[in-house]
Amino acid sequence: MASATQHFDAVVIGAGFSGMYMLKSLRDTLGLKVRVYEAGETVGGTWYWNRYPGARCDSDAYIYVFTFDKQMLQEWEWSERYPTQPEILRYLEYVAKRHDLKRDIQFSTRVIGGAFDEHTNVWTVRTDKGEAVTARYLIAAVGSLSHTNMPQFKGLEKFKGTWYHTSRFPKEGVDFTAKRVAVVGTGATAVQAIPEIAQQAKHLTVFQRTANYCVPARNGKVDPEVVKARKADYDGIIKRTRESFFGQEHYSIPKSALEATPEEREREFDKRWDAGGFAFWLANYQDMFFSSEANELCADYIRRKIRKTVKDPAVAERLIPQGHYYGTKRQPLDTNYYETFNKDNVLLVDAKTDGAIEEMTEQGLRAGGKEYALDIIVFATGFDAMTGPLKALNLQGRGGRMLDQEWADGPHSYLGISVAGFPNLFTITGPQSPSVLSNMPVSIEQHVEWVSDCIDHMNKTGKTTIEATSQAQEQWVAHVNDIVNLTLMTSANSWYMSANIPGKPRAFLPYLGPEGVGGYRKQCDEVAAKGYEGFVVA
Ligand SMILES: Cc1cc2nc3c(=O)[nH]c(=O)nc-3n(C[C@H](O)[C@H](O)[C@H](O)COP(=O)(O)OP(=O)(O)OC[C@H]3O[C@@H](n4cnc5c(N)ncnc54)[C@H](O)[C@@H]3O)c2cc1C
Repeated sequence: MASATQHFDAVVIGAGFSGMYMLKSLRDTLGLKVRVYEAGETVGGTWYWNRYPGARCDSDAYIYVFTFDKQMLQEWEWSERYPTQPEILRYLEYVAKRHDLKRDIQFSTRVIGGAFDEHTNVWTVRTDKGEAVTARYLIAAVGSLSHTNMPQFKGLEKFKGTWYHTSRFPKEGVDFTAKRVAVVGTGATAVQAIPEIAQQAKHLTVFQRTANYCVPARNGKVDPEVVKARKADYDGIIKRTRESFFGQEHYSIPKSALEATPEEREREFDKRWDAGGFAFWLANYQDMFFSSEANELCADYIRRKIRKTVKDPAVAERLIPQGHYYGTKRQPLDTNYYETFNKDNVLLVDAKTDGAIEEMTEQGLRAGGKEYALDIIVFATGFDAMTGPLKALNLQGRGGRMLDQEWADGPHSYLGISVAGFPNLFTITGPQSPSVLSNMPVSIEQHVEWVSDCIDHMNKTGKTTIEATSQAQEQWVAHVNDIVNLTLMTSANSWYMSANIPGKPRAFLPYLGPEGVGGYRKQCDEVAAKGYEGFVVA
């Protein structure tokens, strides 16, 4: 006799920051029966998968944490300003243990499909282990940067050496000693990995398609007095980050860069440059993201820094970004990145001046008509961001509509948390929410708590389905686009604009609200306070 299908109140997909806290909230706060599926072998998400040399967070670690458990904030000690991947993974393991999360997580299991039954109002979720379960609610906590953009280079199968993608590095690591190595890509990941690999490899060739504006990370031990003061002030920190623009303690200068005198501007730029991290990006003149003239002043400052740091003027010029405004791409943080190009064993091959990569060969790769002999290729080619992991779920909503088809021209969501035609589905830090444009734990906690409150409300009022209306959704999509169209962000070929994936429809993926994550939180809370305005609750 076939065994009855197991039924859960909620299925959560993914066990990174988002899925872990979602489980905690639904199971321990609401008392629901929850199953989490995770493709990886343990918790951690991003910090389980991204094991490349130099992998670390770029958010200051004191805010790159869960805040729902006050004792953890006091107990946990980070070893430096931006801890490395193993340390962040250790932190997430510690959270899982403390809250006994693993007993409801099924690891090494990928969700390969989900279908909503309009008669029973439940989701059936299928996994790659041949399992099918049902659930009232389906929560995609699949991550914004979890769907690897695997390189599609011609001839890759011919390459006799070994190759890796940064987000799928082997657990045992890679020994680059005495090897001829290539790194393909110069985004935030590559900027972390390149200096580390260059220290080990016999020779490193960096293949650059687009130069990026990098600012100093200024990693290091945090002064114990600062750590102590922060621990004493976590309530304040939580309040400030939640109300802030980017979920960080960075505040823009409330003035136009064009109004400042050159001396004043230089002083302000120096301050942010010296502070390191996202200060130059997120705490600069308020018109930096809006005015090309203001932006040019910031860009000029960075260009001067690059020219000063990189000894060979021809290499410096190739490392200077062309054709996009400063800040319109994910900000890479630099620890010896520019200095690395002063090393004798490092070569920069720039697609614009030296020729783009044409194909992989048996011995290495060919770019601009020239063959480069290699033992190892590291692809730092990033992710099919935000929509990629959701489209890969094969979700079927009302009337047989498929999520990937609904989003054929880019994402359509309501508040970045819900999709019309897909009842009882929630997307944590989904497209068209602040997500990747914020310090993500702040946005993750906000979404998880909103979803949890919503499900609690549903249960308490005896309702069974909640679904965004198409009208509310299309108004939200228009709002997201109207706001971002006022900025310089849309001009860049960035992954924020979906431009890194061939054929991906050009659309701005996150939400850059007029009042940032603080304003967005208020909008979400108002929707709930008005009885889930823009949703049909039945
Ligand atoms: C290298 C790197 C550095 C970063 N640094 C920062 C930073 O400094 N600050 C910051 O705010 N953010 C940073 N981020 C973003 C980071 O992704 C988030 O901060 C956060 O870790 C996201 O947590 P999450 O749980 O939402 O997603 P993830 O951590 O991506 O977890 C999602 C999980 O879902 C699983 N999954 C996906 N699809 C399926 C499926 N079909 N079936 C089963 N499981 C599935 C994946 O295996 C993954 O484990 C960084 C990202 C990267 C890649």
